[in-house]
Amino acid sequence: MYRILFTLSAFLSLATVFGQNEDSLMIRKIANEILINGKAYSNLHTLTKTVGGRLSGSPQMYKAEEWGLKTLREAGAEKVWLQECMVPHWIRGGKDEAKFNIAGGNEQSLDILALGNSVGTGPNGITANVILINNYDELEKRKKEIKGKIVFYNYKFNPTLIETFHAYGDAVRYREFGASWAAKYGAVAMLTRSMTESVDNNPHTGALDYIDSFPKIPAAAIGLWDSDKLAKAITENKDVKIFLKTNAKMLPDTIGHNVIGQITGTDYPDEFITVGGHLDSWDPAEGAQDDGAGCVHAIEVLRALKAIGYRPKHSIRIVLFANEENGLRGGLKYAEEGKAKNEKHIFGLESDAGGFTPRAFSIGLRGEKLERIRSKWLPLLKEYGVYEFIAGGGGADVGPLFEMMGTPVSELIPDSQRYFDYHHSRNDVLANVNKRELELGAINMAALIYLVDLYGLD
Ligand SMILES: [Zn+2]
Repeated sequence: MYRILFTLSAFLSLATVFGQNEDSLMIRKIANEILINGKAYSNLHTLTKTVGGRLSGSPQMYKAEEWGLKTLREAGAEKVWLQECMVPHWIRGGKDEAKFNIAGGNEQSLDILALGNSVGTGPNGITANVILINNYDELEKRKKEIKGKIVFYNYKFNPTLIETFHAYGDAVRYREFGASWAAKYGAVAMLTRSMTESVDNNPHTGALDYIDSFPKIPAAAIGLWDSDKLAKAITENKDVKIFLKTNAKMLPDTIGHNVIGQITGTDYPDEFITVGGHLDSWDPAEGAQDDGAGCVHAIEVLRALKAIGYRPKHSIRIVLFANEENGLRGGLKYAEEGKAKNEKHIFGLESDAGGFTPRAFSIGLRGEKLERIRSKWLPLLKEYGVYEFIAGGGGADVGPLFEMMGTPVSELIPDSQRYFDYHHSRNDVLANVNKRELELGAINMAALIYLVDLYGLD
């Protein structure tokens, strides 16, 4: 039995060497380079510890751009440049505060963070009665009771959805549009349960989008323990008042940049493969998982291909996108300029779902094209953790490449169970990134770029 197995496996590995091949050897070479000499983690260390949070328009945004230029050069980019774009300049402006009390009883504090793009309350804050709204239907049913109150949305992540991005996608409309929905019926401020299922009380910020036809009211996210505490107080008592003070302000747009590094292709220098992450992050922490991980993933793709001596046929561009979080201006600018210059973009890949163990790629292909890469490429990637190509879109920043030019786009899909524990909260720090998991993401991205460069997607 032992001998038969041994012979069989020896035969299979010979078959691999002579038949299937160079690609699996090449991908092994990429993997070894990243696992032995990898720079993704040390680059992330520098970004998170010397720059930290880097909201669009902040001084740290410019520091991060400098870091990006330097790191791309060190990784072996042949050409490195900044692409200018105007970005929103929202500032938090100080500590956010909230307290509630039940009919004149003792005040209890709430841990909150103002939502990105929101207006502030003014220096005196806002004091008003609060109304608990569990979902949109309830808001519509109780619309006559909203006027003059603070609306508190307590919509929860659906715990039965295994892929946590689906729970986020379901709940995030309350953060994005809840302020305007409430303002439509006369609310004076909005609070929302944080977009997470974490077991701590950290609030999770994130952008809101005001709907122009309604007044702009202050808005903030509350941590989960405090959300539960507040919901219980409102359910048990009629008269619950909240004091809310936020100092946020939207300043005029300011200049930001996409940071781009390129290796020029040998056969098709005018055809581009884009690999990116977004350089901006929220301010409460270091933006380690969101999206420092994606930036260092993208840079590592270039570094590893260069280090093993691979000369790409197409030009490969690493793009550290500006302003994904509260505007997407970088992603839009990159595609707009590409379109205006009539550039040919054959593929766009983004990492913006964290540096966790990779599981899959989502990709904008259907039918035969999708089946072809599933059958040919998954056997090569499986060993490194990617077991599926899921028909779908790419990351937010490469989305405009598809929308404006029809470029097929893709996103790395890592394991999602821990992402929303950290996302947009004080916990998004380097300590919550695992070095090997981060490296596995870079390996699969580099392998995919190698395969697309060599074989295309048609
Ligand atoms: Zn992100």
